Amino acid sequence: MKLILHGGFFSESTTDAKTKAAKQEALTTIVKQAYDYLKSHTATQTVVYAVSLLEDNVLFNAGIGSQIQSDGQIRMSAALMDGTTQKLSGVINIQNVKNPILVAEKLMPYDDRVLGSEGANQFATANGFAEFSTETPERRAEFEKKLAATGTGTVGCVALDADGKLAVATSTGGKGFEMVGRISDSATVAGNYANAFCGVSCTGVGEDIVSNATATKIVTRVTDGMAIADAFAKTFTELKPYDGFAGAIGIDAKGNVFHQDSHPSMVFASFDGTDVVVFD
Ligand code: ASP
Repeated sequence: MKLILHGGFFSESTTDAKTKAAKQEALTTIVKQAYDYLKSHTATQTVVYAVSLLEDNVLFNAGIGSQIQSDGQIRMSAALMDGTTQKLSGVINIQNVKNPILVAEKLMPYDDRVLGSEGANQFATANGFAEFSTETPERRAEFEKKLAATGTGTVGCVALDADGKLAVATSTGGKGFEMVGRISDSATVAGNYANAFCGVSCTGVGEDIVSNATATKIVTRVTDGMAIADAFAKTFTELKPYDGFAGAIGIDAKGNVFHQDSHPSMVFASFDGTDVVVFD
């Protein structure tokens, strides 16, 4: 069993040392909690659980503490992908729910795979998700000061369960100050992708991640026989011509755990039951 999660990018200019330490502590606690959960649950159930814990933590830009868009509203996106069934389910630009990843999970059995905006909101209400404001005073103050802090903390998790199955989940409050209607990478296959060979979750500037098809490319390369480290290296080299801003975490079916970022520094934690690795 293997587990890795990310808490998005840590930006020195917008986050102080105290917040950095708090994020490290939160990731350490959550990676252990999620690993315990993985002992008696599937990879798919576990990535949802881990991401919901990260969404509940105000330090991360997903769920509670999501960034505010240019019109002063919060719109969130999240997706889940089961590597065994190869089904992805997601919500894009959903509003006023505490845990977008739980709405994505609820959508998994349906034929329609990704719901956006109004439709996502209606689906959440119809399925009993209570109205919940995910705004925090900190994000409002940032918004008011117009401190556009790109990529400060999307969350994601990849898990390999005891049956050798892989799953991935990603959740975001977006990049902050974006235009209304802007689509994040997090609920697309560029930002969140898994099959039976590999699972990958991304963070960073969604536009760069979509242009690079980051998660899909890494997974496809591993599927075709490339070592996970080489698949990450090649895919990240392809971000260079346009200075793409991305970070990714991944696990392959053999249990190799990997992470890489194009700009320092992505906040991440992994756990194999023995050693917790936080940051790099
Ligand atoms: N990838 C997210 C987005 O572009 C932002 C992030 O990772 O922090 O919406």
